[in-house]
Amino acid sequence: MIFLQSAKKSHPSTMSLEGVAEHCYNITQSYLDLANQTSIVDETKEAIKLTRDYLLKDIFKRWDPFSGQISFSYNGGKDCQVLLIVYLSCLWEFFKESIRISQFSLKFQKFPLEYLPTVYIDQAETFQTLEDFIELTKNRYFLSLYESPRNQTSMPQAFRNYLDLNENTEAIVIGIRHTDPYGEKLKCIERTDSNWPDFIRLQPLLHWKLANVWSLLLYSGEELCGLYEYGFTSIGGVNTTRPNPFLKKGPGEDNGEAITNHFSWEISNAYGKAQEDSSVPVTRVSDADLDIIQKTDDSAYYPGWFLIEDSKERAGRS
Ligand code: FAD
Repeated sequence: MIFLQSAKKSHPSTMSLEGVAEHCYNITQSYLDLANQTSIVDETKEAIKLTRDYLLKDIFKRWDPFSGQISFSYNGGKDCQVLLIVYLSCLWEFFKESIRISQFSLKFQKFPLEYLPTVYIDQAETFQTLEDFIELTKNRYFLSLYESPRNQTSMPQAFRNYLDLNENTEAIVIGIRHTDPYGEKLKCIERTDSNWPDFIRLQPLLHWKLANVWSLLLYSGEELCGLYEYGFTSIGGVNTTRPNPFLKKGPGEDNGEAITNHFSWEISNAYGKAQEDSSVPVTRVSDADLDIIQKTDDSAYYPGWFLIEDSKERAGRS
């Protein structure tokens, strides 16, 4: 299903869920149309296509994404942000397809959702910058975000509480990948384990590698959490996460690049950028977080996207 001849030419308003979903569709479609780029781009296109097939051909056929049966688990990390972009893209595509086969004319068709049902479990003490990013993206992507009371209970119990309040929810989307701890044997669609409340886990990002996540995110032109620019690659609790040691700059490396940036092309040609520009849109890191980062170690780090080895992704977490 392709609805736009040239996705890059369309500029939908991003002032509604429908608008931002169409924008995300244009981003992914434009990415899929890229030709003669790097092998990472080619692999990422395959990763997107598989996720899109899972969502459009399996998931949305079994659970109606417009009826509150599906919620999206969101913690502001790069994995769920990239999945959100692909998910919204598919939501827009699903809507357009339902219009195409409907007997009613376009003017009677309204996008069926104003806000995307989303759940955030406020578990460990988090970086203020990540909290700010969650707030920003809540507005950016029109999320109706349920935030659990901070640190009150375990993750399974927090989801039990969420389900008690949202009885329609049957399935929850999770941005987990096979390379995450305990992620190796997971499947795209599966029930929760016995010590969890009973619902369906939807995990359409499992096959993505770290490089795929960075490639689409950096190409998207969407604002990223500022901590990534400070060498973070995986963000956990404020007392247990540091910039990734594999990205530490050696003496005299402050200006040069001793590590290859595999995503220069994506950054310079990001979706919606008017001209070549080598900056990455990131949110501001809070002063309190800068203090925390620099108190223990004032070394300089390459940005998180300079790391593409999945096995080293969590090296900054203890
Ligand atoms: P990340 O890589 O940061 O998270 C991976 C993804 O998990 C995120 O993209 C996001 O979608 C979700 N997520 C993580 N933290 C939060 C949060 N605080 N609030 C909202 N979403 C979050 N484990 C089991 O052993 N058995 C289960 O049945 C089971 N069911 C789960 C159901 C849901 C809805 C979720 C979110 C998790 C479940 N887990 C379960 C735990 C899961 O497998 C991961 O261990 C957990 O998500 C943390 O992953 P991570 O440390 O790799 O963190």
